[in-house]
Amino acid sequence: MIDLAEAQRVVLESCPPAAPVTVGLDDACGLVLAADVVAAEDVPPFANSAVDGYAVVAGDTAGAGPGAAVELAVAGEVAAGQAPPDEPLTAGSAIRIMTGAPIPPGADAVVMVEDSERVDGGARVKLSASVQAGSGVRSAASDVAAGTVLFHVGTVVTPAVLGVLASVNARRVEAYPAARVAVLSTGDELVTDGSPLAPGQIRESNLTMLVPMLQAARCQVTSYGVVPDDEARLEAVLCEAAAGHDAIVTSGGVSMGDYDVVKAVLGRIAEMTWMQVAIKPAKPFAFGLLDGTPVFGLPGNPVSSLVSFEMFARPALRRMMGHRRLARPSVVAVCDAELSRRPDGKTHLVRVIGEWADDGRFHVVPVSAQGSHQLAATALANGIAVLSDGDSVPAGGEIAVLLLDR
Ligand code: AMP
Ligand code: MG
Repeated sequence: MIDLAEAQRVVLESCPPAAPVTVGLDDACGLVLAADVVAAEDVPPFANSAVDGYAVVAGDTAGAGPGAAVELAVAGEVAAGQAPPDEPLTAGSAIRIMTGAPIPPGADAVVMVEDSERVDGGARVKLSASVQAGSGVRSAASDVAAGTVLFHVGTVVTPAVLGVLASVNARRVEAYPAARVAVLSTGDELVTDGSPLAPGQIRESNLTMLVPMLQAARCQVTSYGVVPDDEARLEAVLCEAAAGHDAIVTSGGVSMGDYDVVKAVLGRIAEMTWMQVAIKPAKPFAFGLLDGTPVFGLPGNPVSSLVSFEMFARPALRRMMGHRRLARPSVVAVCDAELSRRPDGKTHLVRVIGEWADDGRFHVVPVSAQGSHQLAATALANGIAVLSDGDSVPAGGEIAVLLLDR
């Protein structure tokens, strides 16, 4: 058996980041930047008003306060989208200004409309608050200064990052492309079409689970469906998949059975590493390259498939897509019930249900059934507790937990 960290190292080593591509902003969400982004423009591009109110010379408002108004002549008006007046504001006057409108030349502050009252048929304004220079003003480049590095390589393009890119007129970015992943499951026993089960048949579940797991990892997924346990059919599908994809994920057929065709076919046509990983569940796992395309051979037991995906395929695909952080975030959690095990030379990956409690800590209990075929229980897990070889962790003990929903 090979230990978990070593197995992960073998896999990651063969899954380097893909060659970067140039993408328009419409296609960039979720990708990882492959080059620093330098701001080409200032944001805001000009000093503008943070509030609706009156642009003034701050000194003109000295002494204004509750019950002590200062009166200024209203010399004009400027709204968002309008150019500022050409004439500088003269002392003793104010300009009605809206949020986002350019600060008129000569003005250095804005009194908010809540502190004003129009008088004299609108010709003048009474201000009941004084302001300092700069008050109510958003200066040019106060969000982003042209020439500065806005985002570094490795930054994930989130919706907010996209907004910032748009704000500096960055129309395209260099990014690592989403991995194109082919996924298939194998097994003559698997039924997908809802028909009544014949003796020996079961319903397929892994493909249905793996497709959205890949999509959640932001891969572009092609499903090849269920491929029967037939070497020629499987070989044809695998070769076609390898030609048009960056990675292949298979479910089933990688253990010691006589009909483990994935093992038989890939053993012939790919450079594979067959692993018995010292973990429970998900001991059997295969990894290799088919014409240079990484192949993740996940075990068929549904819980094992999920755990194997989490431990090997997801981190490797993230590496290919340029992510710096490959693993799920991990916290030291408090066990509210015993996580039972015995020493057996394996790391146990116990699926747990956890929640953040008032003590600021993540509290976990194991899901109700831990068998590798019992997906119904594991489906409710939001964490995987990592128990290195040894004894149970008692209630009240601490354990490292990978957070699945982060
Ligand atoms: P295998 O890894 O092919 O030996 O399969 C191990 C166990 O998982 C067997 O009981 C299979 O019937 C079951 N299994 C394999 N693939 C799937 C699948 N796609 N959906 C549900 N169960 C599966
Ligand atoms: Mg099988």
